[in-house]
Amino acid sequence: MPLPGSCRTLPIAAALLLAGCGGAAPEQEAPHVSEADRGIGAEQHPQLLAEFGGAYPGEEAQYVSRLGGNIAAAAGLEGQCTFTLVNSDVVNAFAVPGCYIYVTRGLMAIVTSEAQLASVLGHEVGHIVAAHSQRQQRRSLWRTLGVIAVGLTGSQTLTRLAGEAAQFFTLRYSRNQEYQADDLGIGYLVEAGYDPHAAAGMLGALARQEAFMVGSGGRDVARSIPEWARSHPLTAHRIQRARDAADATGIADGALPENAPAYLAEVDGLLYGDDPAQGFVSGRRFAHPIMRIGFEAPAGFTLTNSPQAIRLSGPGGLRGEFGGGALPAGSDLDGYAEALARQVLGDTPAAIAPPQRIVINGVRALILSADVTTQSGAVPLSIAAFDGGGGRAFHFVMIAPPGDGNAAAVAALFRSFHLLSEAEAARLRPRVIRVVQVRSGDTLETLTAAMAGDHPRAELLMLNDRRAETPLRPGERVKIVTNAAPGATD
Ligand SMILES: [Zn+2]
Repeated sequence: MPLPGSCRTLPIAAALLLAGCGGAAPEQEAPHVSEADRGIGAEQHPQLLAEFGGAYPGEEAQYVSRLGGNIAAAAGLEGQCTFTLVNSDVVNAFAVPGCYIYVTRGLMAIVTSEAQLASVLGHEVGHIVAAHSQRQQRRSLWRTLGVIAVGLTGSQTLTRLAGEAAQFFTLRYSRNQEYQADDLGIGYLVEAGYDPHAAAGMLGALARQEAFMVGSGGRDVARSIPEWARSHPLTAHRIQRARDAADATGIADGALPENAPAYLAEVDGLLYGDDPAQGFVSGRRFAHPIMRIGFEAPAGFTLTNSPQAIRLSGPGGLRGEFGGGALPAGSDLDGYAEALARQVLGDTPAAIAPPQRIVINGVRALILSADVTTQSGAVPLSIAAFDGGGGRAFHFVMIAPPGDGNAAAVAALFRSFHLLSEAEAARLRPRVIRVVQVRSGDTLETLTAAMAGDHPRAELLMLNDRRAETPLRPGERVKIVTNAAPGATD
């Protein structure tokens, strides 16, 4: 069984692992995932899946699992890790205790070879082997619970609202921990037979994705900062370090395979961007083509799509969510709003004002306001319930920090709820990645013309990790994004 980091082949990793590999130091134990950690991971797994839009099914998931298994084996953790592809378009990868490792389909979209994906998985396995995750996880869970949770007990919903949306859940590792995970990951690439130079290529691709997100500016602020860059700080120095570490293996760039064609065959057909089943978030707007509803939050709001609800965070610490449900048989909006308020408040004491019945954009609505009693003062809670027709209701639940400086923003949010016309709904189509072969005569322009999206040229370059000046060679394969055929992703 190889030692982690392959001390014999990787001088830089060896230097970092000197305590484990040096003659005088005690021999390093083989890596191992404890039963206790597996238990923690298994317990969190369903919650993390739910927050990330669930597991993405099919061949792509099996591929991630298979490749992850090979990398875990290269790290000496054969059969001890669980790799999951999640149905989120946020670019992210992370590991939690117990060696549960998650990769989003958003990350899969920007990867261009099997070795690059292996480098991401190897980096995450590296965090596990070096036991970074346990320490970080505990700290960030405290932070995630947030300030309001301290003053409010008895309501899981309020606690959840107070917390950060899990998709933006960050594990802040120290710079040295990132370097160590990079070095370990590069060792696993070599051990698994992949080109170690792919790691620097992957970091470069992530840096270009970041530049694309900032440059395109069409999406919400939180998404313009890629997760990878937040949880794994990405710097030019880190990319250079990965290059140096690959050079230090003594394996020439390209001497071991990257398996780009195999990778591209796997991602052909992968869902790209929002999943229509969860609705489409575009900047501050949300639209659901199946439910036929939408809203637009006022300036300063950030929306995050998750399968249960749309999380909203607004100016001045406003937080909330948008969701929907069935109108109880024989009940009206009052019943729906009251049940919701009971669920939100739990046993928390609150002063509830009489409900307000209004019509918003032709839709019957009911507004409930309450002052929730907390240790830090009265927290304003606002609920808006809408009759979406066909026995379906929709709602916002918003909480604000003590004081009511946010009432106007909340009112504007509620007023933006509307039903979608058939034409509006029809325009919201899922997109997928298609791998196409470049034909003679194809140019950046002809491929751009085949792309669906708001920034086709920049996205084409970003997804294929290309520069505009690099000529296209007939026969080479590139990823494009197209509208899915109707019904293709159902
Ligand atoms: Zn990391």
